[in-house]
Amino acid sequence: TSLFTAVEMAPRDPILGLNEQFNADPNPAKVNLGVGVYFDDNGKLPLLKCVQEAEKQLVDAAKPRGYLPIDGIAAYDKAVQGLVFGTDSAIVSEGRVATVQAVGGTGGLKIGADFLKRLNPNATVLISDPSWENHRALFQNAGFKVDTYPYYDAAKRGVNFDGMIAALNGAPAGTVVVLHACCHNPTGYDITPAQWDQVVAAVKSRNLVAFLDMAYQGFGEGIKEDGAVIEKFVAAGLDFFVSTSFSKSFSLYGERVGGLSVACASKDDATRVLSQLKIVIRTNYSNPPTHGAQIVATVLTTPALRAMWEEELAGMRVRIKQMRTALQDKLKAAGVKQDMSFITLQKGMFSYTGLSVEQMQRLRGEFGVYGVDSGRICVAALNSKNIDAVVAAIAKVS
Ligand code: PLP
Repeated sequence: TSLFTAVEMAPRDPILGLNEQFNADPNPAKVNLGVGVYFDDNGKLPLLKCVQEAEKQLVDAAKPRGYLPIDGIAAYDKAVQGLVFGTDSAIVSEGRVATVQAVGGTGGLKIGADFLKRLNPNATVLISDPSWENHRALFQNAGFKVDTYPYYDAAKRGVNFDGMIAALNGAPAGTVVVLHACCHNPTGYDITPAQWDQVVAAVKSRNLVAFLDMAYQGFGEGIKEDGAVIEKFVAAGLDFFVSTSFSKSFSLYGERVGGLSVACASKDDATRVLSQLKIVIRTNYSNPPTHGAQIVATVLTTPALRAMWEEELAGMRVRIKQMRTALQDKLKAAGVKQDMSFITLQKGMFSYTGLSVEQMQRLRGEFGVYGVDSGRICVAALNSKNIDAVVAAIAKVS
């Protein structure tokens, strides 16, 4: 026997498994809608022009690669705060936000989870049912008990808001509530501004800790619009957490650029919180990498590049919306009787199609159309060339 004889094989990541199955499928007409990535109309992963410009500047500057500070590039952290809370917001100008650069949005969640575990070791973490697959495992691995609050209502094709708010109102003080700030993954259904007000009120009256996961800012309605929910938590005077990801909004998946911001009641609180976040980082990976954050900081702080980014981001957002409208219209034209109007009500990259496991499996096996068994498809992987085949396949299994 070796040290590792008793090590069990861990279960495969279900979405990566789907990708492997897709790659092995000889069907020339196959379409991969299982991924969580934005592709352009040619089915390609975009490299944004603003990113290329910033990279040229960085190469020309030929800067040496020393260690970054533990909390990352200062200009980057400031830019993240500006995007999340608004550059002119009182909370930022008063120094009440502690922001650190993180290894993607996942890294931001993990730093926040590790810090929360020290603060509030016995808290339960509530995630939405369903949620991004990694939320549960990430908070469990940080040592928390993870439960869910109701979110998706399959019969209604929408959010079970009564169930959600009842769960929050019934949660014990200190419970950590993970909320998708916009573009809910996997369902595509967001709650309304009035419903957010009720969530904020429940968090406040029950003394809960909100952890907003903002992985898709700019993919729903716009940068400001998608960030509007943050203002509500600030206005209520709450201490809360926000993780940021630039993986999708800059198409910088592999550079691992994200952040964590903690909104505090005072500058003094923020200073002490920051010192603790730095310990979490220091003992995990010491300090973050330079390249991706340098690109994002350059783009966000250079007016011409910033304008270019906002335009390119709007381009991605608009294309997704066009695909939603086209999918809805074409399904109707193909004779699908079921009301599909929910497709254009959903936001962001994903759509819960309402298709059953059996239907999703038939789509894969008979037509080479790969979505997740839950019925989730990535609308951002549809394009003008593959949409008709996808619609025809869905019509056949409906
Ligand atoms: N949170 C949600 C809801 C996501 O959908 C994702 C990515 O798919 C992440 C976090 C992770 O983002 P990143 O790839 O930047 O770590």
